[in-house]
Amino acid sequence: KVRVRFAPSPTGPLHMGGVRTALFNYLFAKKLGGDFLLRIEDTDQTRYVPGAEDYIIESLKWCGLVPDEGVGFGGEYGPYRQSERKAMYRQYADQLVEGGNAYYAFDTPEDLDALRKEAEENKTVFSYDLHTRNKLQNSLTLSAEEVEKKIAAGDPWVIRFKMPENTDVIEKDLIRGEVKFNTNQLDDKVLFKADGMPTYHLANVVDDHLMKITHVIRGEEWLPSMPLHVLLYKALGWEERPQFAHLPLILKPTGKGKLSKRDGDKMGFPVFPLLWTDPTSGEISRGYREDGYFPEAFINLLALLGWNAGTEQEFFSMEELIENFSLDRVVKSGARFDPEKAKWFNRHYLQEKSNEELTKLFKPVLAAKGVSIADEMVTRIIAIIKERCEFVTDLWEQGNYFFQAPESYDDKTVKKKWKEETPAMLNEIVELFKGLNDWNATAVKEEFSNFMNAKGWGFGVIMVPIRLALVGSSQGADLFDIFEIIGKEETISRIEKAVA
Ligand code: GLU
Repeated sequence: KVRVRFAPSPTGPLHMGGVRTALFNYLFAKKLGGDFLLRIEDTDQTRYVPGAEDYIIESLKWCGLVPDEGVGFGGEYGPYRQSERKAMYRQYADQLVEGGNAYYAFDTPEDLDALRKEAEENKTVFSYDLHTRNKLQNSLTLSAEEVEKKIAAGDPWVIRFKMPENTDVIEKDLIRGEVKFNTNQLDDKVLFKADGMPTYHLANVVDDHLMKITHVIRGEEWLPSMPLHVLLYKALGWEERPQFAHLPLILKPTGKGKLSKRDGDKMGFPVFPLLWTDPTSGEISRGYREDGYFPEAFINLLALLGWNAGTEQEFFSMEELIENFSLDRVVKSGARFDPEKAKWFNRHYLQEKSNEELTKLFKPVLAAKGVSIADEMVTRIIAIIKERCEFVTDLWEQGNYFFQAPESYDDKTVKKKWKEETPAMLNEIVELFKGLNDWNATAVKEEFSNFMNAKGWGFGVIMVPIRLALVGSSQGADLFDIFEIIGKEETISRIEKAVA
């Protein structure tokens, strides 16, 4: 059975790249009738950020990516929070040391700093490799007795992986094909620390094994870790290991470089699913949810960052994504994020919603503006204006004149269209309106046209001034619809106010 996991570290809010990783895992699992797990990788307690875990869970729920198992969702392979699995990892670290695949290293941070400095002076890059390892105090260079003694004395230690020398590691990536690494390019990563905690690499591999993960689908930034992970499986004697798939980077709107939070700040778009308040600095980062995006739109845009169905289709519901998804159609090269396209997706999903649904979503906006009006009326107004909207809040931008008289009149339009004779003409129209009994768009239109014809006035001369009076600008819905919806009294009062 296919089992995949999303394994974020709670070091801050989930970036949209993280949500895309979760999405692709979810789609892959659902397409193949498998399980989607949420594992929280919190072994690095120096980077732990309070609130981040809840944020991750809430984000997944908002997106509709509900895990089958995981932190907050139960399951047979728990606990799913690595800090709660602490006791499980030690034995594997020991096993690696006993098998000669890992060793105790007794360097202090000062020792390592000195080595880094030395490399800098020699204009080389420091790498903790076999050359380094052979010059230092560790369980490979010291006797077993000396090692025991150091540990007993409380000397600092970590367990490091003993990277084999000059060995090719060739592994098939489901997106990239065969990827080849030579171990001479890799260093001896720390696997386990004296505080009893494993590092990411050990915990990740051990948990993927224990949780029976079949496919590791994650971001491209983890590709360099793949050879170490493969070697760990081998060293631990686990013949069955998951297949790997590394997703392409999400690129800046310019296409140059990885998308970052700063791009969003600069260009005015969110890079996080939900609003986030940094617990230490209090800094607030925008979220797609709070910015008024529908989760359907967010998911749709993420799905197309690195994947396509091989057809022209661009709008996909979650069901359609599940049906169409395959890793074969995930690209290797980076996927450029286009914030304008994000809005375009939202527009699509807004148009798809029924006017009644939009009424429910729009009512809190109206309430905040102090407008109280019958739902039925709101629904009618929405039907008229929604075509121009990308977000629920645009309904107010586009339709505020239905709910309140304009507070000012657009200068340019006044200059162009408000002539000396306009007030007198409008006064006559007010008289006409006062005498009408049937107040609906069709009836008013007929009476109005007859009146205009009788007077010999051109529509062009009078329509814009009326629009100015009702809307405040030269924009807006059909005038006769506006008449009908705001009603006879309000129409007359707005024209009278403009004339005065
Ligand atoms: N904890 C890693 C992260 O934060 C998981 C990487 C992986 O999926 O192996 O992305």
